[in-house]
Amino acid sequence: MKYYEKIKTTPIKKDAIILGIETSCDETAVAIVRAGREILADEIISSATEHAKYGGVVPEIASRSHTEAILTATENALKNSGLNKDDIDAIAVTEGAGLLGALLVGVSFAKSLAFAWNKPLVPVSHIRGHISASYLADKDLKPPFITILCSGGHTAICEVKDYYTLKVLGSTIDDAVGEAFDKVARVLSLPYPGGPNIERLAEKGQNNIKFPKMLANNYEGSEFDFSYSGLKTAVINYVHRAEQLGQQIVKEDVACSFQHSAIDVIVDKAEKALKLTGYKTLAVSGGVGANGYLRKALKDRFSGKIKLVIPEKRYCTDNGAMIASEGYLQYLNGNFADLTLNAKAVVPIK
Ligand code: AMP
Ligand code: MG
Repeated sequence: MKYYEKIKTTPIKKDAIILGIETSCDETAVAIVRAGREILADEIISSATEHAKYGGVVPEIASRSHTEAILTATENALKNSGLNKDDIDAIAVTEGAGLLGALLVGVSFAKSLAFAWNKPLVPVSHIRGHISASYLADKDLKPPFITILCSGGHTAICEVKDYYTLKVLGSTIDDAVGEAFDKVARVLSLPYPGGPNIERLAEKGQNNIKFPKMLANNYEGSEFDFSYSGLKTAVINYVHRAEQLGQQIVKEDVACSFQHSAIDVIVDKAEKALKLTGYKTLAVSGGVGANGYLRKALKDRFSGKIKLVIPEKRYCTDNGAMIASEGYLQYLNGNFADLTLNAKAVVPIK
């Protein structure tokens, strides 16, 4: 019998152990998770230092690094979990969104593993993976809740109505918040990765430069939409104008003022979304969720009022455990792929 004919009849186990593979950007991540909630192993091999020389992720270097690291990451995950291949119930892999060449390494490897081990192959959306990191952070978390998805590629506020149904209340109409952090870091000559470096600099600065409030006036879209392109341009213009006039800028203040403008709007919109829906739980997902100012602002605004779920920083940025956790949900539904699975540079938020 062909692989898929056999695999699609696999009996579903409630306490399934899923091996999750993530290679959408510069992290080769492999994790093993039981029943979507319990992390049994979690390996990350990052190629970030190789990209730092170029000021951003170089797709070809990312793809090559995944090729070199993926076997080691998988072997280490198995070794550290104390399990062997027979204990694994399915292989979950990020199919998109991300860098196509990088994704292809993970998808090809996952297909080979699924075929060789005779296990179901479960394709996972990277975006949904980020949201599922909250199920690892809070073992009792159940939908419905509001999630703020703030990453390098996306910025959105969503209702998680049930484990499978997302409703996007609003999203960015141009740049993502993480992208704005990275571009502002570049103009301030900070090394890659930009986000954490802006945060470090901002800690020493004052919020004393007035950058524009985004989508505040006369905007006809959703009140939950975001825009970061204008803010990014305002910061770039501020820095260039000072350079042309031969004036010194206080980089710490630029970073701090930018960070306030970029983050405060997320916290405000999250509050509005909670009011609109009446939900009593707010979860954070995506790399910018690692930002200390955002984490503190959320705690200051919501602690004691609602249930707040903020994953550990390691589970805000890319990791394999979030893919295994989301993979478990898809596995429960029998969403298996055959061996024609391909990588996708773009996937919708749904
Ligand atoms: P993701 O797209 O979810 O993988 O997250 C990557 C994005 O998160 C990049 O744009 C990073 O600059 C951003 N990021 C990571 N850590 C931080 C931080 N501490 N503060 C702000 N942005 C961050
Ligand atoms: Mg990501």
